Amino acid sequence: MKANKVTKYLYLILSLSSLFLLMGLTTLLWWFIAPRLEDIYELLRPISLTLLRLFFIVLMIGTGSVMLTSIFEKNFLIAKFAVNLYNIIMYPITIFLGSIIGFSREKIRESYIHVNNSFIKAIKQRFHPKEILILLPHCLQNNECKIRVSNDIYNCGKCGKCDIGDLIYIADKYKVSIAIANGGTLARRIVLKFKPKFILAVACDRDLVSGVQDVFPIPVYGILNIRPEGPCFNTRVDLEKLDATLKNIIYEEER
Ligand code: SF4
Repeated sequence: MKANKVTKYLYLILSLSSLFLLMGLTTLLWWFIAPRLEDIYELLRPISLTLLRLFFIVLMIGTGSVMLTSIFEKNFLIAKFAVNLYNIIMYPITIFLGSIIGFSREKIRESYIHVNNSFIKAIKQRFHPKEILILLPHCLQNNECKIRVSNDIYNCGKCGKCDIGDLIYIADKYKVSIAIANGGTLARRIVLKFKPKFILAVACDRDLVSGVQDVFPIPVYGILNIRPEGPCFNTRVDLEKLDATLKNIIYEEER
């Protein structure tokens, strides 16, 4: 089994367990309050039970779509509403349950990014280069470099001390936009400026997850940065993986 499959399955298994837990707890809660509801108004009991069942059905459809799409990397996202509800409700519960069991939030978020990326592979949508933005974190820049690349990445002198020069080369090769975001606010501003239809984001697990959720429904393919010197300091990126991802997402005739 490949390493990325293990991490993808971590989130899928945890979220499925969280769903069963949520269903069990809400059913138990309903069972306790049902007699009181009946005292208030006799139809409240059957109405609340029907609503609860509908909620479970939508969540199960969302879960099924996510599981099948992520595992087989084929598009089973038939009920978008159910998938969105699944993501909004199950993500925080999965993080909570996973932390209680003993998994680090970092590992669960990494796994979530793999699930998110498998959706993009499953949908198999292609984009024109001008619709694509490569969004990078500031910590990729070498700590000793004094050039202000967050204003304009093309200020980079391409000295080779960090990956930014090579990333510009890749962006130019495919004629896609590229920018550095120094925090979430600037990232949102950059997205508003470029108005991309697809974002290839490099960041740590935490920033990638918040980025994916912030810019929804714009699809974001996340590449986790490499942190040989610890978080937020002289980070690196797998250039071959980024290049291959970009190549796969651009219309074949425009590569
Ligand atoms: S490649 Fe060199 S000039 Fe460019 S940002 Fe990195 S350290 Fe600075």
